Amino acid sequence: MDQIVSLSRRRGFVFPSSEIYGGLGSTYDYGHYGVLLKNNIRQRWFEAMVLERDDIVALDSAVILHPRVWEASGHVEGFTDPLVDCRTCKLRFRADKLEDSQCGRKPSKHPGEFSECDLTEPRQFNLMFQTTVGPVEDSGSRAFLRPETAQGIFINFKNVLQIARRRPPFGIAQIGRSFRNEITPGNFLFRVREFEQMEMEFFVPPPDSDRWYRYWIDQRLGWYLRYGLRRSRLRVREHGPEERSHYSRGTSDIEYEYPIGWSELEGVANRGDFDLTRHTEYSTTKLEYVGPDGERYVPHVIEPAVSLERIIVAMLVDAYDEEVVGERERTVLRLHPEIAPVTAAILPLIAKDEGMVSKARTLYEELRKRRSVEYDDNGAIGRRYRRQDEIGTPWAFTIDEQTLSDDTVTVRDRDSLAQERLPIGGVRAWLDDALERDWKTPKGD
Ligand code: ATP
Repeated sequence: MDQIVSLSRRRGFVFPSSEIYGGLGSTYDYGHYGVLLKNNIRQRWFEAMVLERDDIVALDSAVILHPRVWEASGHVEGFTDPLVDCRTCKLRFRADKLEDSQCGRKPSKHPGEFSECDLTEPRQFNLMFQTTVGPVEDSGSRAFLRPETAQGIFINFKNVLQIARRRPPFGIAQIGRSFRNEITPGNFLFRVREFEQMEMEFFVPPPDSDRWYRYWIDQRLGWYLRYGLRRSRLRVREHGPEERSHYSRGTSDIEYEYPIGWSELEGVANRGDFDLTRHTEYSTTKLEYVGPDGERYVPHVIEPAVSLERIIVAMLVDAYDEEVVGERERTVLRLHPEIAPVTAAILPLIAKDEGMVSKARTLYEELRKRRSVEYDDNGAIGRRYRRQDEIGTPWAFTIDEQTLSDDTVTVRDRDSLAQERLPIGGVRAWLDDALERDWKTPKGD
């Protein structure tokens, strides 16, 4: 994890937030390559969940919803973690994660392991961030920053049903920020207080819910494999009845083997009719499906839910590689070409050669219209290749002496380091083809 954190910072993917003020724990800002990486992951999710399908529509709901939403959803009452305080060192820990927490004293131990440790009984602590709406701060103006995007979908169920004229099975997908006042954050982006969730609620006729639940586990697992995560680092773990929420008819975590061990990357849950029934009760608006011949029922809901942050960590960890090439060490991010922040680098071999620069700039201007490409004429060519390897750029096109006489360029492959020559006029089509090809990580299964 330390290598990933340090590379992310060195290359400007992710910075600790508010650093000039001493930092704010577990809050991060994304630099240029981090933004490009996030855009790609978000777009690949949206393609798979919405654009490539006929049965899912998109939604973008508000962050601050009517406070009753969170009463109906059960969050006001039950979205809590059990906390203990240490009366000696004044630190606060999650009672169910003591083995993952560090006591404030040295040498570092778990809370409760020193004889001086004096832990309180566990108390429930709500994870929602509170705020007030309007100029007067009273209980009537209390509101919450959403801790998940799902509820914004449920409260729009009727709108989508009527206006998008859908009938089950159909889904509503949403991407947006969620906020949780996590008590044991840490592990880089894995557990942060604000994160971008990608959730989809799939509404199905009740008798079909188990089939769709299995279907979505398979689909989501397939998405990770499609974008290059190694099969051996992924597994599906089904929750036992004691671990599931009371309304859940089945919950599975798609887990990734992070440096902190196997942990939840994405959750897939069969939520039954809990959410629509509760919102019907609390809002008195009937949330049900009524068919053309009068049949009516409350659909059951299958929910795949993940955050961009957990995908980023999994993808960076999976892609990170170090190898020695010609007695030199190189660090390379073997990201899927459709995930990599920069698709191609355009490099004039000699930065002072006007002919090379002009051809390189023309190629760059042509490619940048449709893709994220980078022009780099700064430093020795070897150093430029290494810089691109570190940010995971799959291909580099080099404009050299020969280009000036025959209008060909070399393309260098990030993973195999193979180089081939091709006509400069064919680069755009070559890149289109290369992105269409199946890609598999050279790190194995
Ligand atoms: P955990 O048990 O790890 O706290 P959770 O079961 O509470 O997670 P869900 O409520 O199911 O998580 O949220 C759905 C998804 O949102 C998770 O699978 C994860 O990808 C993501 N997620 C949840 N909390 C965080 C967080 N604090 N930081 C980053 N991503 C998160």
